[in-house]
Amino acid sequence: MLDFAIYEGAKTMFESNLGLGPFVILSLAKSIPPGSCVYHDRHFTTVPLIEEMEKLNLHSTAPKIVQNYNKFMGGVDVLDQQMEYYRTFLKTKKWTLKVLIHFLDLALVNSWRLYNNDCVANDLPRNKKMPLLDFRMDIADTLSCTPDHPRRVEGDDDSVPVPRREYKIYRPANAPSAAKRYDGYEHYPISDDIKAPRTCRMENCESRSKIKCEKCDVYLCLSRDKDCFKSYLIGSA
Ligand SMILES: [Zn+2]
Ligand SMILES: [Zn+2]
Repeated sequence: MLDFAIYEGAKTMFESNLGLGPFVILSLAKSIPPGSCVYHDRHFTTVPLIEEMEKLNLHSTAPKIVQNYNKFMGGVDVLDQQMEYYRTFLKTKKWTLKVLIHFLDLALVNSWRLYNNDCVANDLPRNKKMPLLDFRMDIADTLSCTPDHPRRVEGDDDSVPVPRREYKIYRPANAPSAAKRYDGYEHYPISDDIKAPRTCRMENCESRSKIKCEKCDVYLCLSRDKDCFKSYLIGSA
């Protein structure tokens, strides 16, 4: 997606003698690189519009190119459909928040589509490709893993640390996403004040440890004899 306009009712855009539909297309077309081919709904197509578009060195769809039209116009519908798969649910009546969340979802779907292009360009087998849901989870995990202690920026004094949820019964944290685990950033070992050590999360390690990575929230051996901590985070056993 290159540009957008939020429909705010009849006053959304300035009136023009072309009519609202063609005017919307012309306004949005300003963000398109010259020489592009523009596909739009038949309802929007008028002769003055096509003339105006040619002035901008943009090619409007002629009714003849129905095959291409169906092929590319489908892109918009596919985007809409992918947006619906995993919409962020937010119970609010504030339109500002809804718009914000909508664009967050849109950015996620857009980046997943770019990721798909990269997968194709790199001949990645289909079964190795990350589905949209995993892609979203990975990003959410990476973004929400900021350590508890506030990272102070000068002049920014109203940052409040988010309290960590306390579980009465120990429940091992979910394995961190690969993006988080291998980002090499702020993985600090902390010694937990627990009675019994917990199972080390290093693959193939059956030892127990009281040391955990603060960021990933997983227990890992860290002693003179065993350094699962480092191996776990750099990705080599
Ligand atoms: Zn970590
Ligand atoms: Zn271990």
